[in-house]
Amino acid sequence: MARQLSCPRCGDEDAIRGSREASRIMLTCDTCQITWDRESPVCATCGGSRLLLTTRRVESMGRGTQTSIIATVEVEICETCDHEVLRAYTDHGQPLPAGYVPYATRHPERPD
Ligand SMILES: [Zn+2]
Ligand SMILES: [Zn+2]
Repeated sequence: MARQLSCPRCGDEDAIRGSREASRIMLTCDTCQITWDRESPVCATCGGSRLLLTTRRVESMGRGTQTSIIATVEVEICETCDHEVLRAYTDHGQPLPAGYVPYATRHPERPD
């Protein structure tokens, strides 16, 4: 169960998109077309607030053995817990591998 954010104006949870502006995370509601500053998020694993918004690949198997990248989704990662992928991918401007679940949003009560 991901922690849901809702629009402060219409209360919609499905139309929220996040984007990074400088070091801040801004949220936009597609329904109202309003943007607001996100409150400090915390990591689900360490409880720290050093989270970054980055992208993760969404892949689907194409014909043959080719894997085609069809899209990316925005995910949060923790600078502390997800430092390995942060250095390997985010620091190089690369999206995270498909299927990677950031520690920032990992729930320890749910076994892998
Ligand atoms: Zn709204
Ligand atoms: Zn963490």
